[in-house]
Amino acid sequence: AKDVGRNNFQFFTADFNQWATNRLHIENGLRHALARKELVLHYQPQVDLASMRIVGCEVLLRWQPQGEALIPPDRFIPIAEDTGLIVPIGAWVLDEACRQLAEWDAQGTAPIRLAVNVAVPQLRQPDFVDYVRDTLARHGLSNARLEIEVTESVLLDQDERIRHTLEGLVELGIMLSLDDFGTGYASLSYLRNFRFDVLKIDRSFVSELHRNPDDITLIRAIISIARDMSLLTIAEGIESAEQCAILNELGCRVGQGFHFSRPVPAGVMGELITQDVIA
Ligand code: C2E
Ligand code: CA
Ligand code: CA
Ligand code: CA
Repeated sequence: AKDVGRNNFQFFTADFNQWATNRLHIENGLRHALARKELVLHYQPQVDLASMRIVGCEVLLRWQPQGEALIPPDRFIPIAEDTGLIVPIGAWVLDEACRQLAEWDAQGTAPIRLAVNVAVPQLRQPDFVDYVRDTLARHGLSNARLEIEVTESVLLDQDERIRHTLEGLVELGIMLSLDDFGTGYASLSYLRNFRFDVLKIDRSFVSELHRNPDDITLIRAIISIARDMSLLTIAEGIESAEQCAILNELGCRVGQGFHFSRPVPAGVMGELITQDVIA
């Protein structure tokens, strides 16, 4: 039994060491990612389900370290949040996405909205609201063009500065979006305490939609609450025409997912906006 225990321990430490080394490797690389211009933005269209017109896009960060494979956000965003690196990185994301939107505008395409993900450490910055306002102004964009997506984790945080920041954003006329709705613990109470404009129905409700009557019931209830509170609903993770049709029938206004398009580089997104309607 002693031997087994020791083996388990060795196995654990080897595993832990690998995890820690990997984490350190990512952390060190991330520190230089901005200066080395290794960060890239991809865009995923958000589609009006009744007309199939593109009404917005979500900005999704990618990291391409020199000589290495592309690193997906789930592997580096949590580390960027823990280390605070998400603050300068997030500032760049907003600036670059606004620059890109202004460029699309200049080409005469329809004025779509930009949805940008924002993390807790960014919302704790006392000058975050000013930074957002100045960035939009610098690129000649009106405040209503921007949607800020936050998850419930942001609202679990009791920090008063966060509430203050969210209120500041609302006052500017920026749209506040509650991401991954339905996956947290107390989603409904947040709706009472914060002034959201958009509910993003989590992908987990959408994926089994065509097979699972319970998911239809839940989505119908979410849409009904949203309608009564004058919130826009965006369904995430739509992967089939069937899911799309059911959601449209249930009264969901906007959808996003691989069925319409995967997240794509700016050039491809520009072509999609030019087409206006998703084929
Ligand atoms: P999220 O905000 O929930 O973003 C949606 C994720 O779902 C994206 O993953 C997107 O590629 C994926 N997705 C979209 N449609 C479908 C679909 O039909 N099926 C499936 N299976 N997946 C779909 P991605 O790009 O890997 O991003 C993962 C997470 O990383 C995001 O989840 C977000 O929490 C975070 N993230 C990405 N960019 C940023 C950023 O600039 N700042 C911050 N703070 N977080 C970001
Ligand atoms: Ca999001
Ligand atoms: Ca989401
Ligand atoms: Ca998520």
